[in-house]
Amino acid sequence: MRIVLLGAPGSGKGTQSKLIVKHYGIPQISTGDLLRAAVEADTALGRQAKAAMDAGQLVSDELVLAMIRERLSEPDARDGFVLDGFPRNVAQAQALDELLGQMARTLQLALLVEVDYEELMERMTGRRTCESCGQSYNIYTSPPKMDEQCDQCGGNLRHRADDNEETISNRLRVYDSQTRPVIEYYREQNKLRTVQGTGEIEQIFNAVRRILDSLDEDAAGPDAPPEIAPTLEDLEKMVLATAMQAHDTVPVTQTPAVKKASPKKSAVKKKVATKKKPAAKKKAAVKKKPAAKKTVGKKKAVGKKPSAKKTAAKKKKIATKKKAATKKKAATKKKAATKKKAVTKKKAATKKKAATKKKATAKKGASAKKKSAVKKSAAKKKPVSRGRKRAPKKK
Ligand code: AMP
Repeated sequence: MRIVLLGAPGSGKGTQSKLIVKHYGIPQISTGDLLRAAVEADTALGRQAKAAMDAGQLVSDELVLAMIRERLSEPDARDGFVLDGFPRNVAQAQALDELLGQMARTLQLALLVEVDYEELMERMTGRRTCESCGQSYNIYTSPPKMDEQCDQCGGNLRHRADDNEETISNRLRVYDSQTRPVIEYYREQNKLRTVQGTGEIEQIFNAVRRILDSLDEDAAGPDAPPEIAPTLEDLEKMVLATAMQAHDTVPVTQTPAVKKASPKKSAVKKKVATKKKPAAKKKAAVKKKPAAKKTVGKKKAVGKKPSAKKTAAKKKKIATKKKAATKKKAATKKKAATKKKAVTKKKAATKKKAATKKKATAKKGASAKKKSAVKKSAAKKKPVSRGRKRAPKKK
């Protein structure tokens, strides 16, 4: 799921983002949170951003885009994300499309949380956030049980430096002039959906959920690389590996290409995984996650162990295929041999015939020669006739 939450400062998009994280198990990427963390840690980026933030102005696109590029390339954002507070102007929206395009991904939805101007003012001036767990309160609409103390973890509640009336007015002006056009940008792309951001948080989230659940559940996205079907060799390797695992022998060192689960199945799996996720993981969605944590072991990539019955069936299938291949090969060989033999025979016969003919012709020639020689010599030897001359015929 790749979505953007839009809305004026104080519209509650941060609160809804956190609920989305909890329900769908995708990380929230809030540029405001990332910038505040940088300011607090007094990094170079934080020092550069602080003045603009204190004045309620936008931090430069260059800084924010570098931050987003880095955050989106982290492993936990591969399966989806909810962007909160970004993009804040059309240039950022265009840069996001480009960046996702480079990653062979597209944005699926821009969700606008709409709230009246007066209510926004009240919400922001009354907003308090827990320093330890990030839980949000509002001293007017959803106050903590104890003043300035978090109900969940007892941490101190903080009033954001930029949540004073002057800065708030500036932020709302900036929103009107720079961020509102982003709504049109996504409307034109047919990606915009709207929820009313007033009322109970749970009710608003129900509306959000209805929209998100209607999204195409194919988490891999339309540009995902094609699935790779296992070859016969892969299947053999898989069966062998499974058999070896079943007998507790050496660990699997090679991972065969396994066909991905259907989108429907992966969506169900995701939901289960989300429910099982510990609270610590949710917090980590905001902060940086070490890459090693997300790396899946090679053994895991093979997937669920098939049952003995399935393994036997697979083995049988492979054996049958192999047998058929061997049979075919032998038949082809035999055919070729027979053909070769016939050709050789034919050739020999032709040769013999030709030789016989030649011989016969030669013999005939020889006897003709002989005959003429005999005739010649006979003619030579014939004596001159000495007999009486025939008397001339009487007239
Ligand atoms: P937020 O918590 O989203 O209201 O952001 C607090 C402040 O951080 C804003 O008033 C801006 O100064 C700065 N900021 C947050 N996100 C952005 C952004 N996408 N582009 C520029 N500045 C931002």
